[in-house]
Amino acid sequence: MSTVILLKEGADANAVRHGLSELGLWPQPIGNDARGARGFTVSPFSKHVSLKTIEAVDGVDEVLETPSTHPRLDALKQRVIDISIRQGTLQVGAGSPAVLAAGPCAAESEEQVHRCAQMVQQAGGKLLRGGAYKPRTTPYSFAGFGAPALSWLRDAADAHGLGLVTEVMSEHDTDAVGQSADLIQIGSRNMQNFALLKAVGACQKPVMLKRGVASTLSEWRHAAEHLLHAGAPHVIFCARGVRGPSEETRNVLDLGAVALLKHVDGHTIFVDPSHAAGRRDLILPLAQAALAAGADGLLIETHPNPGSAHSDGPQALLPEELSLLGQILSQQELSR
Ligand code: PEP
Ligand code: MN
Repeated sequence: MSTVILLKEGADANAVRHGLSELGLWPQPIGNDARGARGFTVSPFSKHVSLKTIEAVDGVDEVLETPSTHPRLDALKQRVIDISIRQGTLQVGAGSPAVLAAGPCAAESEEQVHRCAQMVQQAGGKLLRGGAYKPRTTPYSFAGFGAPALSWLRDAADAHGLGLVTEVMSEHDTDAVGQSADLIQIGSRNMQNFALLKAVGACQKPVMLKRGVASTLSEWRHAAEHLLHAGAPHVIFCARGVRGPSEETRNVLDLGAVALLKHVDGHTIFVDPSHAAGRRDLILPLAQAALAAGADGLLIETHPNPGSAHSDGPQALLPEELSLLGQILSQQELSR
């Protein structure tokens, strides 16, 4: 919903604005500066305040609510997301313990995927991540082993009591990925591939939607709405960094967006510090910052031997670093 607040004749617009701000709202004057304003719109990212409370502000005449352009997403606010995994149901978001999803950038062999799944299980992770289909910047890079890798991932997840999150890049692969994955990943590069969103939604599985490298929050929410409209039962947002000025940290991890989607919007959001930073030494501090900002889970790359990784080795956590992260997560749960 977006909210429109109309003022009484002769009301002091500045005083009304002050009163609304005191309630935690972010009022924007309609058509003029605040002094001459006839009313205000309230940013949909403001704190939720009841209509009655707004109407009680001195000088307010009428408060109108207009439907938002992502009603399906709005209807899922503050809801726990149930992900059916072979071992039962994994609950994510809305006060559930933060979830560790980890694994290699790419599934490279049956053996590597099993080793990763074992590391994730030992670290207390709940989801195995790993790509069978890899989006790569150049056509000459390793692009994943495709269908065979999907079954390595599925088998390894099952053998270690984990759920599976894996990316789909093409409409042609949605059935195969939809059958293997417990949570389907839409990568950053495909956030606004609307044909893909439609096909993935039709799988009727929960989806993890990464933010596009230069996408606004509104575009991100609307991409989620596309998925829900097409049949996805739930969408988990995943922040993975946006384009910024510094190449040394690869992308800018927009934690303000994480806090806003979580605490203001009431959505479920993961953070992927691996693709945000692109370097192993920053993953742990950024993961902790993400949890402090309200992340419901972390998506982490790890590899038994990062030096030999086919892709993203420099950002893959070493096994001992993954277990340290697991400890940090469990300590956080104990202190809640
Ligand atoms: C990934 O998670 O494997 C990946 C390619 O991430 P992104 O879409 O964020 O680049
Ligand atoms: Mn990667």
